[in-house]
Amino acid sequence: MKLVLPRDNLCVEEEFMASTGTYVEDGNIYSAVVGRVVYDMNLRRVYVVPSKKVSIPSVGDVVIGQVSGGRDDIVFVKILALNLAMPFKTAFTGLLHISQVSEHRVNSIFEVLRVGDLVKAKVLSSKPPFLLSIKEPRLGVILAYCSKCGAPLVKDNDKLRCPECCNQENRRVSLDYLITRHYKRTR
Ligand SMILES: [Zn+2]
Repeated sequence: MKLVLPRDNLCVEEEFMASTGTYVEDGNIYSAVVGRVVYDMNLRRVYVVPSKKVSIPSVGDVVIGQVSGGRDDIVFVKILALNLAMPFKTAFTGLLHISQVSEHRVNSIFEVLRVGDLVKAKVLSSKPPFLLSIKEPRLGVILAYCSKCGAPLVKDNDKLRCPECCNQENRRVSLDYLITRHYKRTR
């Protein structure tokens, strides 16, 4: 059985009937989950058995989540996906403590992230609520929104700037930040 990811094209509707773990779009059948695809030749149907392995985060996984609230020393993170191509079937609750956000001392966690930010974080514990860390360079905020106007912020060298209102904001920015602006060096 072949491992498939969400949005993988499995076949066309004329070949098989779409069943559990799949969806149909424009006559094509796609996987809706991460799992093993089964083509049932007798009943002419296709289904995907969800993979247990990625149905829940495990220790050491790097996951993507959204900061949903909290206080100065700890925030809640809604864990959404194993990576941008592999969303979890359900969201999990993560906790990010102030000691796990930076090598440097910060007085409030909100100095380095805000509610609504998308973060890339490493999982430190095996059960929900999952303890998270964003200390490594690839970890941290991968998408943030302007606190004045709501537009997605653009990474401009080490700073995050709003392309709409020019507001500048501080975050613990990941090397993998999604929107980056590169200046041409003309000297
Ligand atoms: Zn703005």
